[in-house]
Amino acid sequence: MEKVSIIYADTYGLSPLRRALLRLLEPLGGMSAFINPGDRVLLKPNMLSAKEPDKAVTTHPAIVQVVAELVRESGGIVLIGDSPGIGSFSRVADKSGIHSAARESGATLVEFSDAIVIKGSGTFRSINIARAYYEADKIINLPKLKTHEMMTMTCAVKNLFGAVIGTEKAGWHLKAGRSRELFAHLLLEIYLLKKPTLNIVDAVIAMEGNGPGSGDPIKRCLLIAGVNPVAVDVIAGELAGIPADLLPIEREAEKMGLAGALRKEIELYGTAVETIPEIRFKLPSGLDVQFGLPSFLAKALKNQLTAYPEADKETCVLCGVCRDACPPEAITIQNSALSVDNARCIRCWCCRELCPHNAMRTRQSLLLKVFTRLSGAKKTQESSSSEPSGISR
Ligand code: SF4
Ligand code: SF4
Repeated sequence: MEKVSIIYADTYGLSPLRRALLRLLEPLGGMSAFINPGDRVLLKPNMLSAKEPDKAVTTHPAIVQVVAELVRESGGIVLIGDSPGIGSFSRVADKSGIHSAARESGATLVEFSDAIVIKGSGTFRSINIARAYYEADKIINLPKLKTHEMMTMTCAVKNLFGAVIGTEKAGWHLKAGRSRELFAHLLLEIYLLKKPTLNIVDAVIAMEGNGPGSGDPIKRCLLIAGVNPVAVDVIAGELAGIPADLLPIEREAEKMGLAGALRKEIELYGTAVETIPEIRFKLPSGLDVQFGLPSFLAKALKNQLTAYPEADKETCVLCGVCRDACPPEAITIQNSALSVDNARCIRCWCCRELCPHNAMRTRQSLLLKVFTRLSGAKKTQESSSSEPSGISR
């Protein structure tokens, strides 16, 4: 059985957060169960882009700081690193507060720039992985729980994609094309290349809607931890109210026979799930909507049931960031107008994720709008800040 621990946490205040993290890790043996004195321990937060902590785009710096302190108290040497999707590492570290977190905790920031080539035999023959990531003695994965336009949700497994350096990420998107399954398979292979020692999810304030970069913060008041990121994601998905069949990483992990992909393989510790208020995160508007239609009908209606990106003329400043990042070069800017070639678009939503002006919208057919509404992809219950009672072991 895979152990996953969940703890109620409604604040990023350092003292209560420290208490919550200690309680969270206690059923797993505490931080010292994972760290040996002298270990070089890499903390891998989500550092997607240069946004303030309250935007919920990046892992909150208070979590990074307290985890770094706990690792140091166990004798580890702490490094904090990532390869941001947009913007320079130093700018993202400054704006997200992670630079200060490193300074306060005595950790060293490491930009993922130098890569090591790893041979593979699955989706890739070889892949360039950040050396600082691959050569660390231990990885502590610190994802933010967010919805994700392409993969429905980003949490522990998806956060490890940051080990692929900068622009090379776009190349892997292109290779996967429109196949969410192939991309999920790649992400799982990256996880298997170098398994994290521990995963701690920041779901105190999570993100719903058009994540991972343009969604809305949502109070979930939870921390989730476990050794197996697949199992952690299964529980995170459940706590976000996302139907399991909409999580391609979990379904692909199941096909690959990976441990932790099935709910029945997971043993929960900490706050009892049945006492946690149910929430259904609002799903991204560009997501493929699955209605259980017969395949012939789904095929016939494919074009009408597919959302594509479209620049909002009022807010788009034609800066070209999306065009330059688009893996299949589906975006052109001509005569002061931006257009997307739907036939080329692989619907990776990198353009929306990377647009610094939040100008990329979703274009949906009328039929898709109706189906999206019918799918009930909306929050059914507001987040509660009251502490759930009951502890399960
Ligand atoms: S990145 Fe945003 S603002 Fe820049 S061209 Fe693309 S849609 Fe317009
Ligand atoms: S237009 Fe946007 S969603 Fe389509 S392939 Fe390019 S970056 Fe991805």
